[in-house]
Amino acid sequence: MTQQQTEGGDVRLTGISKTYGSFAAVQPLDLTVPQGSFFALLGASGCGKTTTLRMIAGLEEATTGTISLGGRDITDLPPYKRPVNTVFQSYALFPHLDITENVAFGLRRRGIKSVKKQVDDMLELVQLGDFAKRKPHQLSGGQQQRVAVARALINHPQVLLLDEPLGALDLKLRRQMQLELKRIQTEVGITFIHVTHDQEEAMTMADTVAVMNAGRVEQLGAPADLYENPNTTFVANFLGTSNLIEGEITESGTDILVGVGGSTLRLPAGRCSAPTARGGRILVGIRPEKISLAPAGEADTIAAGRNRVTGRIVDSSFIGVSTQYVVESPAGKALQVYEQNVGHRAGLTRGAEVVLHWDPEHTFGLDAAQDIDAGVETVEDAT
Ligand code: ATP
Repeated sequence: MTQQQTEGGDVRLTGISKTYGSFAAVQPLDLTVPQGSFFALLGASGCGKTTTLRMIAGLEEATTGTISLGGRDITDLPPYKRPVNTVFQSYALFPHLDITENVAFGLRRRGIKSVKKQVDDMLELVQLGDFAKRKPHQLSGGQQQRVAVARALINHPQVLLLDEPLGALDLKLRRQMQLELKRIQTEVGITFIHVTHDQEEAMTMADTVAVMNAGRVEQLGAPADLYENPNTTFVANFLGTSNLIEGEITESGTDILVGVGGSTLRLPAGRCSAPTARGGRILVGIRPEKISLAPAGEADTIAAGRNRVTGRIVDSSFIGVSTQYVVESPAGKALQVYEQNVGHRAGLTRGAEVVLHWDPEHTFGLDAAQDIDAGVETVEDAT
């Protein structure tokens, strides 16, 4: 069997790295993007995601490693000879050409005369059939970006690279365009590799997300899997919000017991990416929406077997669908709790003594040797 047959149309990076002088923008990286998948490179500004994308496009020369597409080595091919197209944040449309001619550009450059059917099909795909004769400035930002996508797809690339394509759009339009791009990708079935710093965007659209930090992929997986089972503090904090509570392992078996500020917490050993030997330190992780709050006076109503931690509400924000509480606790620093607003909760006001409780199965464990705040500031940077 040839390599081509075994790899289909996968994009494969092998030992790819990029250094500028002595600075390593991308550390040696092995990555396979399956054919037909929607793949996101997610990370904070400067983590190396754009450089990685540009190396795939051929716009940046790799310092080490190889890039192959469907088993064919494309490392040394110039950009225009690679079967890939890139859509940038700046749409880079030709202002003096109408939408039809903008989309037809790639075909005309290749000397193709009868472009009408293909352009019509593309405009149909991006739902801009009624806008064919307009100039770019007569379209909204989201519409212009759809033209940029049509213009790239008309060349029938094997892979479409998207470099923060929604970065210039306002939040509402971004959300619409995320769904729109996902629909287009499903319809055309080609591989999309999407670079973004927006974790919600990556999770909404991608089948697989690679979380990058300081030139490395920290973790790669399906969005739900990354969210539920982060392996590092960076991923736990960068992808949504996590409460990380440090404690000492007091028992180790199928479940781990961890002593934390006077409480004992239980978590499944299978959800620990850290050593689980008795006596070791571990970070107990729990997502805010998995925690329930009970006023201290109602602690006896909490079902047996749940993890419990006591605390005092120091802040609460009503945000419509949920209320977000910050709780000070002997178990650690300010703990975050999101409770859905399904009815009035008496006794959960600022200053109230409370018990936080959750299902031990929802708890994960991380190596305590890591920086507990890794990825926290970068979330703020990104928003
Ligand atoms: P952003 O979201 O801000 O674009 P990024 O994760 O895409 O960030 P890259 O653009 O890949 O980051 O840059 C990675 C690192 O490499 C950054 O620290 C950047 O300053 C550095 N870098 C990029 N291009 C060059 C260059 N031509 N010369 C020197 N350093 C560079």
